[in-house]
Amino acid sequence: MIIGAGRVIAAESDLVPGHLVIEGDRVIALGAAIPSEADGVFPDGLIVPGFIDLQVNGGAGVDLLDCRREDLARLSAYLASTGTSGYLATLITAPLERIRAALAVLSGAAAGAAELLGVHLEGPVLNPARRGAHDASWLRAADDQEVRRLLDEALPLIRLVTLAPELAGGDALIEWLTARGVVAALGHSEATYEEAAQAFARGARMATHLFNGMRAFHHREPGMVGAALDDGSCVCGLIADGVHVHPAAVRMAFRLLGPDRIALVSDAGAAAGMPPGKYTAGGRPVEVGPDGVPRLADGTLAGSVLRMDQAVRNLVRWGIPLRDAVLAASRTPARLLGLSDRGGLAPGWRADLAVLGSDGRVRLTLVAGRPVYGQP
Ligand code: ZN
Repeated sequence: MIIGAGRVIAAESDLVPGHLVIEGDRVIALGAAIPSEADGVFPDGLIVPGFIDLQVNGGAGVDLLDCRREDLARLSAYLASTGTSGYLATLITAPLERIRAALAVLSGAAAGAAELLGVHLEGPVLNPARRGAHDASWLRAADDQEVRRLLDEALPLIRLVTLAPELAGGDALIEWLTARGVVAALGHSEATYEEAAQAFARGARMATHLFNGMRAFHHREPGMVGAALDDGSCVCGLIADGVHVHPAAVRMAFRLLGPDRIALVSDAGAAAGMPPGKYTAGGRPVEVGPDGVPRLADGTLAGSVLRMDQAVRNLVRWGIPLRDAVLAASRTPARLLGLSDRGGLAPGWRADLAVLGSDGRVRLTLVAGRPVYGQP
């Protein structure tokens, strides 16, 4: 199959216009121009690597913490319609037996449209002072042996764990996760600059949704925000919906970190892709108001309804170069997860890609060379 478009964000550089040759599940060649024998031609379109979303709590009415196996296909099809080719199912703080039940559902998931790449456990080892929409009753200590047992049982499904490093035993938990190939991410944390810097030195590789759910930046106590920005290598998740983080803060983060250090995440919940109304976020009731943002009854933000293609569009509107926005939604999260043949378009890599129309919305998504949304 040959697909051509006005612009291709390839691994090495942009092709304007350009095309890809796909055989089986792989990209086998790329080139300039659009050949006349192409099967799919999008003259005003843009071909990008499939987006990889490290933080999906749900979507299309599905709350991952409470979902049945048959619901996963609906979520996966919705994600594919946003250009997402792979995602981490994200389970927020809940009673351990509920997390265990959700893990059991996810471990037997059939291949869908967007591919389930594993699980992101966001909690329950979080600081109550920065818990956001996480239920305080179910938060746990970092040295809790029951949590350790749950993690141990669920490896290797669990790929990423967000935790507050300043809790007693936080450093040991980071080392335990890192030794097992799980990405330790810092978040929902009151960590000081020193505490967070030490956690990065111990092996933590990510800051979960930078700026949200963490001690704010102060020039005399830069906190976790300062430690993440000052660190030489950690990846910062960012929710670019225009509500969680001001566009100016997004621009500053891009200037300081560049696209190789920022992973766009949707933090999408059950309400994503659905009309405004009442839904759940990790089982807690949320309502999507006229501003389109899900909140708990007390007004606390509870995830988002953001689409990854919209996140890329928002960045471009805020002045981030298109190529950088796309890399932050694809290559950077792929690298963090150690996926060496995803997140970019190059010969030999998996044919995971999306075609965006001139309005920035997805026209076609391929996963492993197979159309999972739209037709070439
Ligand atoms: Zn969070």
